Amino acid sequence: MIIDTHAHLYYDNIKSHLPDVLHKATDIGIEKIIVPAIDLETSRKVIELSDKYEIIFASIGVHPCEVQNASNKDFDEIIKLSSHQKVVAIGETGLDYYWDLTFKDKQIEFFELQIDLATELKKPVVIHSRNAVDDAIEIVKRKSPESFSGHFHCLSGTFQNLAQILDLKNFYVSYCGNVTFKKFTEIDFVSNTPLDRILSETDSPFLAPVPFRGKVNEPAYIVHTIKKLAGIIGTDYQELLSAMYQNANKLYFKHSYES
Ligand SMILES: [Zn+2]
Repeated sequence: MIIDTHAHLYYDNIKSHLPDVLHKATDIGIEKIIVPAIDLETSRKVIELSDKYEIIFASIGVHPCEVQNASNKDFDEIIKLSSHQKVVAIGETGLDYYWDLTFKDKQIEFFELQIDLATELKKPVVIHSRNAVDDAIEIVKRKSPESFSGHFHCLSGTFQNLAQILDLKNFYVSYCGNVTFKKFTEIDFVSNTPLDRILSETDSPFLAPVPFRGKVNEPAYIVHTIKKLAGIIGTDYQELLSAMYQNANKLYFKHSYES
């Protein structure tokens, strides 16, 4: 079985044919899909989707690229929504220095708020970092990482970054469809990811793997990324699948990490 731990199924280009997308996902063995929100509005949407479709689970929060429009009142609403039974994580949150540095302080503030909420709820925090992985790791470390768990999704960085994340006991990483691209340059550190710390994700509708590069990504395409990762890591495809499945269940559906 497969769990797509990160798919934004509420964008129009994928939501327009969602029953078909979910059907294809089930057909290839996907058992659960976690849909991360990016703001208050999408937090409500992902909960709606999780009510409607058994296969969908929700992660709610404010994405670093959306903090400029987010208020503390929005965050209070997100806290209220977090008691919904299908909310399995907080985020996606984190830091993004690629698009805009204007709201760096507010990105950090909202990242810390969401770590605090995740800690209180004993749910993992979904971390986005773009051109900011050093700072993201630093903030996690500052926040007593032994008391919460997390997922550095679509990780990009250096071998040292990976090593720092692996030092944090309850943290996992995942990689997106870009690992299948010809010009993918981070093979060295990805190949060093241990099987007990890796998760499967698509980041749908973004970053579709080859042979669907440039198209709208969807959970069913996850197998192309996992097959490529098995090659990079040098492990058997089935073995990687089952490791990813166990890890996702452990992080998102059991909340069994020790504190
Ligand atoms: Zn995302």
